Amino acid sequence: MSRVWNFSAGPAALPEAVLRKAAEDMLDWQGKGLSVMEMSHRSPEYMGIFEKTRADFRALLNVPDTHDVLFMQGGAVGMNAILPMNLLRGFEQAAFVNTGAWSKKTSKEFSKYGTSRVVLDNAAAAPDAPAGNYVPDCSHLVDRVNGQSMAYLHYCDNETIGGVEFNGQVEALSGLLDCPVVADVSSNILSRTLDVSKYGVLYGGAQKNIGPAGVTLVVIRKDLLDRALSTCPSAFEFKTVAENGSMYNTPPTYAIYIAGLVFEWLAQQGGVAWAQAQAKAKADLLYSLIDASSFYRCPVRPADRSRMNVPFTLADESLNAPFLAKAAERGLVQLKGHKSVGGMRASIYNAMPLEGVQALVEFMREFEKEVA
Ligand code: PMP
Repeated sequence: MSRVWNFSAGPAALPEAVLRKAAEDMLDWQGKGLSVMEMSHRSPEYMGIFEKTRADFRALLNVPDTHDVLFMQGGAVGMNAILPMNLLRGFEQAAFVNTGAWSKKTSKEFSKYGTSRVVLDNAAAAPDAPAGNYVPDCSHLVDRVNGQSMAYLHYCDNETIGGVEFNGQVEALSGLLDCPVVADVSSNILSRTLDVSKYGVLYGGAQKNIGPAGVTLVVIRKDLLDRALSTCPSAFEFKTVAENGSMYNTPPTYAIYIAGLVFEWLAQQGGVAWAQAQAKAKADLLYSLIDASSFYRCPVRPADRSRMNVPFTLADESLNAPFLAKAAERGLVQLKGHKSVGGMRASIYNAMPLEGVQALVEFMREFEKEVA
């Protein structure tokens, strides 16, 4: 059996050690004669797995007692509706920072529930970056949000498609804002240390840095649990989910179990600080190759480039198909860019070892030499 270097944006590569452990446990978890998939979510065995998983996640992300951690379903797109249903009581509007496809989707969905106020975007080109390819200047963010009775301010910390990532700009302003900050961290959670106390809600689908698709992580400040609309479905009401320990209804048990194995693996590597250093080393390697060449190009402003999703184009688009075919021959797969952007995208989440990025860089150098 040989495994490829998988650059998928998500569902994405998982640590090999995790997959091996899951395979080992598949038929008979710890001598119990059954798979985790076959356990009641209320059995002592599964409750043990669940509680350790939640505690390990809290420890990795350094979640303070002021915040609850919920394991939910519906994905981050589901959250676009679940968030307003949970946070809008007593409010009519919320503020949005639009920096790409995912944040735009969020502000658009919100309009079904209230007035969506886009307070900052990157829709126009900046002097040093094309439209959509930078983090907007946040110096007027507080003025535009405060005094408007916003239910919350939403932004996406890492735009998976565009490859634009914040670097603490909103977190630094959170103490000056008169509403809570809600952040979509689907594609960079656990890749950088952050101060959870600065956020009202952090949420993300698991299928990039955490585990299989099907589980959505929500970290919520406890005082925000009381703001749900009366029409919010109970299964999606944060308060109900919190009061029932994420077991109001059957959670995605197997996906949570795999997430737990990923958390154990990450802690063994050195936790989020390790992931942050790794992410920097991998991203630097790839971007420096791109910047040193006139054959490859990345449109994102250097300071705002994602450490997780690296979009790049080839000088000649007709070479895209041969690039992908030759890369696949070398075991480098799922590099095709998102259809809305074109070109290539290498997603290099926590589970992608430096070795995988080295293999990609080596291939890119050779391909350029061969065809340019
Ligand atoms: N937000 C971001 C930043 C994402 O990358 C994604 C998935 N690619 C989503 C939201 C949507 O997540 P889901 O498909 O799990 O609903």
